[in-house]
Amino acid sequence: MQLVEIDPVAPDPAVIDRAAALLRAGRLVAFPTETVYGLGANALDSAAVDRIYTAKGRPAYNPLIVHVANAARALDVVREWTATADALASAFWPGPLTLVLRKRDEIPDGVTAGLSSVAVRVPRHAVAQALLEASNLPIAAPSANRSMMLSPTTGVHVASSLGDVVDLILDAGPTVVGIESTVLDLTTATPTLLRPGSISVPEIEAVIGAIAIATSAKSGVGRASPGMMDRHYSPRARLLLVDAADVAATLDHERGGGRRVGALVVASLLQDAGVTRMPRDAAGYAAQIYNVLHALDNAGYDVIVVERVPDGAEWLGVRDRLERAARS
Ligand code: AMP
Ligand code: MG
Repeated sequence: MQLVEIDPVAPDPAVIDRAAALLRAGRLVAFPTETVYGLGANALDSAAVDRIYTAKGRPAYNPLIVHVANAARALDVVREWTATADALASAFWPGPLTLVLRKRDEIPDGVTAGLSSVAVRVPRHAVAQALLEASNLPIAAPSANRSMMLSPTTGVHVASSLGDVVDLILDAGPTVVGIESTVLDLTTATPTLLRPGSISVPEIEAVIGAIAIATSAKSGVGRASPGMMDRHYSPRARLLLVDAADVAATLDHERGGGRRVGALVVASLLQDAGVTRMPRDAAGYAAQIYNVLHALDNAGYDVIVVERVPDGAEWLGVRDRLERAARS
């Protein structure tokens, strides 16, 4: 494995060319997107795609997201480009919205876990864009972490999770959005939200009208699509979600057992050495959450008490990740 630092705004073309050559040769390259770091492979090369599953220990039933350079290139991947897809792409691409559409026959089964649909998105990050342009390939890329663990938001997170199995890591520092993309299924009669993310339901509905929300995307319980496990995105530490009023008592109670216990708070005014104060806005919170959880894991915390976040639509993505991380 090699980790190479790369400028997040003006990536060095020589480094990008090397990464593109590795992808063309069927190898794995970890790269930043605006959401989290992805573990990329040529989406048209089924042996390369299989390597992603092996590297992550990802179950074969969990399909991958295919990244393309722009909306026109999505047609290399999907069988039909609908008016709804077009409206959403104009509004949100490049950006953290993934669309599920019927797949073209040339997309290997490994990419879609055997489904007849494929998930596609155009990332905004300059490094991801440069890699897509230079390789001239659709790039299949799930989050660059071992299956079920926390998603990586820095190149160092990738190195500590997958350092021994990835050929190259492009490290452009922390990602901006911080949680995985919003996933919207356009193969259903009414478009259906499968995974909430930073692009919110009201923002999508402002463009295409009312959408359906898979039950699990509302509550963080159950599975909306093959990869949406109940437990997912988890730190090593046990995570307890509690109301603001209960943070202090929970902290005390958990510490009683001699465990190392920290807390993430928003509104709670609790002052304590183990307390991390999180941003009060959903975008700011999302940008920090995985980074903070990685840091607490690395510092050896056994339990993390997390104050519940507000109810608003813009918080749905963060709420979903916290609820899944808390599930055991
Ligand atoms: P990741 O790339 O790790 O963020 O996970 C991608 C997620 O997108 C999967 O776990 C699924 O939940 C979802 N997904 C990908 N492809 C499809 C598909 N064809 N149909 C429904 N959901 C999908
Ligand atoms: Mg993932």
